[in-house]
Amino acid sequence: MSVTSTSNFVQAIIDEDIANGAKDIYTRFPPEPNGYLHVGHAKSICLNFGLAQRNNGRCNLRFDDTNPVKEDTEYVDSIKQDVEWLGFKWEGEERYASDYFHTFYECAVQLIKDGKAFVCDLNAEEMREYRGTLTEPGKNSPYRDRSVEENLALFEAMKNGEFADGAKVLRAKIDMASPNINMRDPIIYRIAKAHHHRTGDEWCIYPMYDFAHPISDAIEGISHSVCTLEFEDHRPLYDWVLDNLMEFAKFPSRPHQYEFARLELNNTITSKRKLKKLVDEGIVDGWDDPRMPTISGMRRRGYTPEAIRNFCDMIGVSKSNSRVEFAMLEYCLREDLNQNARRAMVVLDPLKITITNYPEGQVEWLDAEINPNQPELGSYQIPFSREIYIEREDFKEEANNKFFRLKPGKEVRLKHAYIIQCDEVVKDADGNIIELKCSYDPTTRSGMENANRKVKGTLHWVEASTAVDAEVHMLDFLLLPEQGEGDFMEYLNPESLVVLKGCKTTPDMKEAKAGDKFQFLRTGYFCVDSRYSTPEHLVFNQTVSLKDSK
Ligand code: ATP
Ligand code: MG
Repeated sequence: MSVTSTSNFVQAIIDEDIANGAKDIYTRFPPEPNGYLHVGHAKSICLNFGLAQRNNGRCNLRFDDTNPVKEDTEYVDSIKQDVEWLGFKWEGEERYASDYFHTFYECAVQLIKDGKAFVCDLNAEEMREYRGTLTEPGKNSPYRDRSVEENLALFEAMKNGEFADGAKVLRAKIDMASPNINMRDPIIYRIAKAHHHRTGDEWCIYPMYDFAHPISDAIEGISHSVCTLEFEDHRPLYDWVLDNLMEFAKFPSRPHQYEFARLELNNTITSKRKLKKLVDEGIVDGWDDPRMPTISGMRRRGYTPEAIRNFCDMIGVSKSNSRVEFAMLEYCLREDLNQNARRAMVVLDPLKITITNYPEGQVEWLDAEINPNQPELGSYQIPFSREIYIEREDFKEEANNKFFRLKPGKEVRLKHAYIIQCDEVVKDADGNIIELKCSYDPTTRSGMENANRKVKGTLHWVEASTAVDAEVHMLDFLLLPEQGEGDFMEYLNPESLVVLKGCKTTPDMKEAKAGDKFQFLRTGYFCVDSRYSTPEHLVFNQTVSLKDSK
């Protein structure tokens, strides 16, 4: 497990708290189980778990499951898997805000008893009218002065299911003239006769996020509650809830909220609502489609937890919103894969070559290095014979002097094998090139007298008789770069997935297992697909190109 190295402003706050006697640094990552985690969440995970690791503290995984309608255990399971895969371990069992429903309820009752909450009958539209605007104060609700007894009775009736959804809410009694709209008697409980994925039909009233979140933090003894910037204006309410309940509830800690900028990446989507739309409308083949910026999508595509953690470390944590170039994430990915991915020979668009002076029926096995950055891993064996495939685009009948690949009468080196020369181009009746006839120099293989003879180009290739078919999925951004106003669905990239069939690779690749990562020489980084690939029908996802194309 890595410990994030760079410091950030939250760490600076923690340093000061520790200097002032704070002992137990306790953070949490609080996803709502209403979708799969995405790359933005990775930033929050690395920050929260990273702070705990660095300060000998703890970090909880807490499901913020207070909105029964959109939540599901499928999401709970995927979130646990994703956090673990990123390399983090939460403290004890995972927590659920729904486990605290009784405490939330008791806290609400206490606020009523203290004259700090009331049941309100205004409907949504009236509520909006009474709320005021950024420049005008709001007006008190006509129900604001209900007696404590009446409020207690009504709130209990709400809990007992005596009113329809939306008929009543419980509101904190704070200040309708506050310049902060969040403090204008915010709703803290609402009626929702909905089945909850964990508490079933036990409750028909549910607490609002701004009420449940500070209490959940305090119940768990959290010290530093880190969230994204849009909650900055909610912080006074976070503090109000705790200040008015600490004495009653005797929570083990008085947590404080700190806000950081959310991660926004260009060319991609970091909104669960939008990602869900892509899934629901079948634009992608699931939350883990390799084009999705979800953690499960990135995993299936071949991203590594190390690369994602390094990326989160590199972009740092700031207090102002900004967009990050996707190229930075890809840079981190290449760094990792270049160091660790096994090399492989795969021809995406095969063109057959017959080596006319190579003995018929002979096959020799050549050494191919596993990874030049890890020589200790040694090599694997690839066959060579009279018939091979090269990449169609590596041959041109007519080409200028800058084309260092194969052309008539010229030589190239076949990686890990011999130098060949093109002697003849074979075409079909329509003039399409269907084969090349070449000759090889039998003294140019590694270890032979002319092994170091220089030719300009080196090509990857695959022996024909033992070649294994593969399907390769070339992947691009889901969204086109030029996004204007309007619905994001109008900017879907029609070429985000291009399926290449009939690709050829070496026989050792039959052993490749789901999730195995490779550098296809000269082509890019690829990963065995975990849904469609079988030993009989290999399917690879393109993880990232070899170089940044921009
Ligand atoms: P969405 O707006 O897509 O529904 P969310 O923020 O509501 O996402 P949560 O499940 O509530 O999703 O998020 C869990 C945690 O992850 C929160 O603390 C949230 O602030 C953080 N988070 C979500 N998106 C990002 C992001 N893009 N960058 C950094 N942190 C994020
Ligand atoms: Mg949220």
